[in-house]
Amino acid sequence: MNKSTPIIQFLGATRTVTGSKTAVIAGPDLDDRLMIDCGLFQGPKELRLRNRASLPIRVDSIGSVLLTHGHLDHCGYLPRLVLDGFEGPVYCSEATAEIARIILMDSAHLQEEEAEYANKKGFSKHSPALPLYTSEDALRAIGHIRTVRLGTPITIGPRTQAVFHEAGHILGSTSIELGIDSMDKSRRILFSGDLGRYGAPILPDPAGGFTVDSVVMESTYGGRFHGDTDVFDALATIVLESMRRGGTLLIPAFAVGRTQLVLFALRQLKDQKLIPDIPIYIDSPMAIRVTSSHLHHDSALDQETRFMQQEGDSPLLPSNLHIHRSVEESKQLNDINDNAIIISASGMATGGRILHHLVNKLPHKEHTILFIGYQAFGTRGRSILEGSPTVKIHGNMVPVNAAVRSIDGFSAHADHDELLIWLKKFDRAPDRVFLNHGEDTSLEALREAVVQKIGVETTIAEYQQQYSL
Ligand SMILES: [Zn+2]
Repeated sequence: MNKSTPIIQFLGATRTVTGSKTAVIAGPDLDDRLMIDCGLFQGPKELRLRNRASLPIRVDSIGSVLLTHGHLDHCGYLPRLVLDGFEGPVYCSEATAEIARIILMDSAHLQEEEAEYANKKGFSKHSPALPLYTSEDALRAIGHIRTVRLGTPITIGPRTQAVFHEAGHILGSTSIELGIDSMDKSRRILFSGDLGRYGAPILPDPAGGFTVDSVVMESTYGGRFHGDTDVFDALATIVLESMRRGGTLLIPAFAVGRTQLVLFALRQLKDQKLIPDIPIYIDSPMAIRVTSSHLHHDSALDQETRFMQQEGDSPLLPSNLHIHRSVEESKQLNDINDNAIIISASGMATGGRILHHLVNKLPHKEHTILFIGYQAFGTRGRSILEGSPTVKIHGNMVPVNAAVRSIDGFSAHADHDELLIWLKKFDRAPDRVFLNHGEDTSLEALREAVVQKIGVETTIAEYQQQYSL
């Protein structure tokens, strides 16, 4: 490889959807060596073990980190990177800084709790079990964050400039465009980050009109389609059905993005009198904080939402909404058994306050459980959705007698067609596309479509592999 040729190396989110980390070496100066995203591996153990192994490149060879957005699989490794000696700035949009703060502190608490639990039970091979990072480490990482404005070029190093663009995926999410001036020629490379949906409520559409040489593109929904179900109609039908049954509607929801979409939909349905004004309870401290971030970051919202908020009203706040922050307030919801909606986390019922609501509601046939997100294989949510007669929670088998429903289409991710639309909105087709952040079948389906429909050389990124730009 020519010494002056910029190099890209994938350190995560290769043939999988977590651990997003991509190193870019744009020149010999430390400031020209950067990392796009710094995500945590999640899911199967062999992936999670990568969080504990040392990074495949030297931490002191990374000058800066640029974050596309605040999801854990894109920023959750930062505290570990800082703990291992990273000293540079972490650039991201203002709203991403706020989401990342919430996510990182929550992640550190979970790591601490897990280590404490393992020590109490004597599970760990290491004695004592240590958290991947602590709250103090997370706070130190947060101290490295520098916020940038969308659309404004910033200088990263002597050869490297960056511009952040709207990605429409969650509050503050961006695609990142790098301009690299090396000895022989200048190059532009665009990292899509996770891409949102066109015409979705709350957030602006993903930006377009790019002129770049290479693209690193996510492929989460390659080969998959959201379909054309009207999610508002579907939600109204399920709310009314749950009311006829006489019980409570329990919605497990991700705290970032999904909870806000459901609140938006419930507000619309209530305003249009398509559902009665029954009480809605949000019972997730993180969901409450993230919803409040939406109220404070007007500039990250779409025009309609921004306008309503500037008028002193928010489309995210339906009438008869009750916020339950403390554990005591959460327990009070155990006494609610008639017409009401409870929204709680986690979205796949893998942990969090949703568990004690499930223990209370699942055994009774008058209640309804509504899933509004993808339920990964091996999660409690998947078992319930697939009709398992019992499910294990806190060591006890809980019978599933409640009605179980699900709605697709509340996704924060562009589907196969929308990913292609995003590529077609470039001013000119790029010379090369790298695909990351997807499972094998999604990567293959999207590669085939990009080659056939856009006519661009497309490479599936491999773990630790280096490519010249
Ligand atoms: Zn994401």
